[in-house]
Amino acid sequence: MRKPKIVILGAGYGGLMTTVRLQKHLGVNEADIVLVNKHDYHYETTWLHEASAGTLHHDKVRYDIRDVIDRSKVDFVQANVEQIDKENKKIILDNGELDYDYLVIALGGEPETFGIKGLKEYAFGIVNVNSSRLLREHIEYQFATYSTEEEKNDNRLTIVVGGAGFTGVEFLGELTNRIPELCHEYDVDSHKVKIICVEAAPTVLPGFDQELVDYAVSQLERKGVEFRIGTAIKECTPDGIIVAKGEEEPYEIKAGTVVWAAGVRGNSVIEKSGFEAMRGRVKVQPDLRAPGYEDVFIIGDSSLVINEEINRPYPPTAQIAMQQGELTARNLAALIRNKQDLEEFKFDNKGTVCSLGEHDAIGVVFGKKLTGTSASFMKKVVDNRSLFMIGGAGLVLKKGKFNVF
Ligand SMILES: Cc1cc2nc3c(=O)[nH]c(=O)nc-3n(C[C@H](O)[C@H](O)[C@H](O)COP(=O)(O)OP(=O)(O)OC[C@H]3O[C@@H](n4cnc5c(N)ncnc54)[C@H](O)[C@@H]3O)c2cc1C
Repeated sequence: MRKPKIVILGAGYGGLMTTVRLQKHLGVNEADIVLVNKHDYHYETTWLHEASAGTLHHDKVRYDIRDVIDRSKVDFVQANVEQIDKENKKIILDNGELDYDYLVIALGGEPETFGIKGLKEYAFGIVNVNSSRLLREHIEYQFATYSTEEEKNDNRLTIVVGGAGFTGVEFLGELTNRIPELCHEYDVDSHKVKIICVEAAPTVLPGFDQELVDYAVSQLERKGVEFRIGTAIKECTPDGIIVAKGEEEPYEIKAGTVVWAAGVRGNSVIEKSGFEAMRGRVKVQPDLRAPGYEDVFIIGDSSLVINEEINRPYPPTAQIAMQQGELTARNLAALIRNKQDLEEFKFDNKGTVCSLGEHDAIGVVFGKKLTGTSASFMKKVVDNRSLFMIGGAGLVLKKGKFNVF
């Protein structure tokens, strides 16, 4: 008898979690499992701010997908997914086609630039290993050029970060650790360096506990970050950005580096494939299937799940993507065994920790507020936990973070 074929698109937190759980739940004879990913490695998206600032080598944030999958049960296909033909149950890849009986879309998100002119062309993003490496090298290039040019262009040493959400703040924290090293390496006067964070919302880290936000702002300001809150980026140019506060006249901030860290939308494959979506994210059914497509699950940053308590979508996080992956694996195993009653997704919020650089962080874990070294310790526990859940103790030993104190 022909085995049903499950195809999982994306080997990020959601996709890889689905895969490693499925290979546990299902026997070799129950289904063919195929995992498709652009690269042959998985990267820890939640560590990319470190690779981008240069405080962690980019090879440290990635590992080989084949090291964590059971190759007797899962076929890995390295390919770029271009489109899904859901009517004919086919996936169009850059190097061929695949058909499926059940599909899991876990392709992650993409930066949301809200149509702001010039951002796509001139701003850097913290999106994947290669974009992080480009950003790190660009900042180093600016320092290297500054130290050798005869007529000094101080704007080279200004770094603008657009967005004071999670990604922006974590990157700022790493930058404050990296800049003194760069100044030392390239003989640059540290007083010449400016780090400016521009945020359109009226606060840093919207939605976070105010006491913790105040702590984060004061720590980052103490280390040289300048916040311009309630200030929107109107345009990004080769020389910097144009911003405006409320109705005030727009003005320019000249900068050698502009980083856009202010928004995520679903993967463009979602809209290209004709799924009904809000900013590329599909509002999934409680069992995480796409409305109208009983054979398609969508999880992670490309899915949208409503937090009933506040009637707003949960922010896209690795934590939610991994929990969705676990549930999807169970639901797929049920479908393969002809059980039609699928489990509904309930997010179990274990807390949130936001890093502020080495040995400093803020967080709420199991309802308890944490700052400083205890929060930073928890951040490393969280980072190691995701490795453990996907690759067990071996992966933690190979890739884990042990520089606790
Ligand atoms: C700097 C930073 C810090 C963060 N910190 C935290 C944190 O502390 N805690 C937290 O919970 N969340 C955090 N997040 C958010 C979190 O990383 C995301 O929500 C999470 O990665 C989403 O998981 P995912 O499985 O949907 O996608 P991803 O983990 O992004 O994986 C998507 C995968 O799909 C692949 N892919 C994409 N497009 C294609 C294609 N067309 N064809 C083939 N393959 C493709 C990608 O290469 C990737 O392997 C952070 C994000 C950033 C950027």
